[in-house]
Amino acid sequence: MEDVGCDFELTPIIIEELRPDEVLVEMKYSGICHTDFLMQNGHLKSILQYPAIAGHEGAGIIRAIGSHVQNQSLREGDPVLLSFTWCSNCNPCKEQNPARCEAFPLINIPATRWPDGSSSAKLAADGRPVGGQFFGQSSFSRFSAVHEKCVVKCPYPDELSLSIYAPMGCGYQTGAGAVLNILKPKPWQTMAIFGVGSVGFAALMAAASLKPKQIIAVDLVEGKLALAKSLGATDVINPSSSSEQGVDTVEEIKRLTGGRGVDFSIDTTGVPRVIKQMLDCLALGGTAASIGAPQPGQDITLDVGMYFATFKNWLSVVEGDSYPPEFIPELIKLHREGKFPVDKISKVYPVAEFKTAVADMEAGKVIKPIIQF
Ligand SMILES: [Zn+2]
Ligand SMILES: [Zn+2]
Repeated sequence: MEDVGCDFELTPIIIEELRPDEVLVEMKYSGICHTDFLMQNGHLKSILQYPAIAGHEGAGIIRAIGSHVQNQSLREGDPVLLSFTWCSNCNPCKEQNPARCEAFPLINIPATRWPDGSSSAKLAADGRPVGGQFFGQSSFSRFSAVHEKCVVKCPYPDELSLSIYAPMGCGYQTGAGAVLNILKPKPWQTMAIFGVGSVGFAALMAAASLKPKQIIAVDLVEGKLALAKSLGATDVINPSSSSEQGVDTVEEIKRLTGGRGVDFSIDTTGVPRVIKQMLDCLALGGTAASIGAPQPGQDITLDVGMYFATFKNWLSVVEGDSYPPEFIPELIKLHREGKFPVDKISKVYPVAEFKTAVADMEAGKVIKPIIQF
């Protein structure tokens, strides 16, 4: 992408010489995630260098390995899934909590090599540097010099598996990790999920695998709610239809839970009004998790006395709080057992049909578009 507001376009690039801690990946597939559009709409411009290559849900084949790559198990020809990267030096990183890395935005967002800010690629046309390590990987590229920490070996080498598992490294682990690593609902507990895009669906499917008493999905698109019902939601709410009847989402959640509210609620939208609903619909002692990033500079109003008296918790969970080298294989195993059917929400598009893929996602026709190189 040339600059803020420009289209995604296919442009020849030249990959710089591989550094000792990088691997060259031939991308086969990449999921499309909302964060990619933050590059386009300028929300990341304070720390992102343009031109830059987006994409951070890559799946491909290792074609070369840097001279000092620590992961001795990596070989040329290995099928790999790509996730985010981290600094390894801060306390959370040392405690194997890289999703809480204190340098997370500065390493993953600028699309440059950490820590010197150089570029891993340049434009073939004029030699200008192009940001080629968005989330350490820039997977909207046929080839990418990827930081080794992004790389998770895929236990299944076939094309179909790579296409299904490409989004594990961001969207799927974000939703599933919040549920499986943090919230962990028990069979007698209840949960509401606000927004069933790919992150919300991953949360929903992960929650369904634990068989809680109730999972309530909230979304504005009827088609998504119908799919949510088929994938484990016990109840669905469409706020746009309920408001016509004078019923608001929080009241509806309370009605569906016998007046109690839910034990857990998740917001994937990042919209302050929805975040407020996520907190208001909690039962006594309930826990809410924000897992979709809100834009900075927005407020919500909280009744702090009520918040205190109802001992609610509000967490922010980034990337599902996951350690990708361990969590992604767990999610793949869950998929193979039929308990995390992510293939039901994705569709593969040739890279030339990128715009169609985005339009279908925005129209709610597909939950997780995946481009194929
Ligand atoms: Zn993402
Ligand atoms: Zn760190």
